[in-house]
Amino acid sequence: MQLVRQKDQMMAKGAHRPRRTLGAALAVAALASAATACSGGAAPERGAPAPAPAAGQQAPAAGALTAYVERVRAQRAARVLAAKKWGLAQPPLEAPAPPAVKPKITTRKGFETDGEGLPPVFTTVPTKQKVVFLTIDDGAEKDPRLLTMMKELRIPYSAFLSDYVVKDDYGYFARMQKSQEAGVSLHNHTLHHRYLPALSYGEQKREICGMQDVIQKQFGKRPPLFRPPYGNYNEDTLRAARSCGVKAVPLWAAEAFPDHMEWREWDRDLHPGDIVLTHFRGKEDWKGTMPDMIRRVMNVITSKGYAVAKLEDYV
Ligand SMILES: [Zn+2]
Repeated sequence: MQLVRQKDQMMAKGAHRPRRTLGAALAVAALASAATACSGGAAPERGAPAPAPAAGQQAPAAGALTAYVERVRAQRAARVLAAKKWGLAQPPLEAPAPPAVKPKITTRKGFETDGEGLPPVFTTVPTKQKVVFLTIDDGAEKDPRLLTMMKELRIPYSAFLSDYVVKDDYGYFARMQKSQEAGVSLHNHTLHHRYLPALSYGEQKREICGMQDVIQKQFGKRPPLFRPPYGNYNEDTLRAARSCGVKAVPLWAAEAFPDHMEWREWDRDLHPGDIVLTHFRGKEDWKGTMPDMIRRVMNVITSKGYAVAKLEDYV
């Protein structure tokens, strides 16, 4: 059943009114409250018993706040410039702070297997925030401009790597991980990109757990996330993945190309928490470069009022 891309009706029509200005409004509110706290901070001190350290602590705190406001302003200005440089219609929206507690993620209806206690398979993260998540698969195209573009625009993303296309240049993905310490994560997309349901449990375990080992060896971290090639899996897939440390199996709600989008849901739209899939490809495979593809998908995401958040902050 999971071989079929289901267009079920989990998203009720009308439940996602566009609120394009929300991100900007929140950002302005944050700045305003920071400024208020800054200027008003000294007042209560006058009537206080004035223990010696209080006055001493006040100044650095206010200074730090000013520095924070300045830093946010500078980052925003840099993002506006970067959006112009890379040809985006609008600067990407700032993602809101992630939830203090990660949402509980369960397997999407219709995507279950008979097994219990297995990593959840899902296409959308449960959240009310107007955020989506960008994921990039395989790893064939290694365009250095992608790293610069994402860093300058400060867009977080998760790369799902398959060893057979990555192993000729692990260095590119090591640079990717370093390029945005807080914004890029590398995850598991198997060793050879096989159709997993056709393989035995042992073969699947080698494909999945072998890639866990490669990522740990090459990039220093054992990834918690795994995506099966083509989105195809069975119970053995999830059992094998669990056996070598996989916590969750994110699929996708929409797929981005340099010249169009493909949608899983019947309403052909984005929803809060949707996972967006795209691939490391170049002009040999599709109608554009990696920057062309990012420009296109960011224009769609931003025009619909969404910010790109970091998947690992929610899953
Ligand atoms: Zn793939």
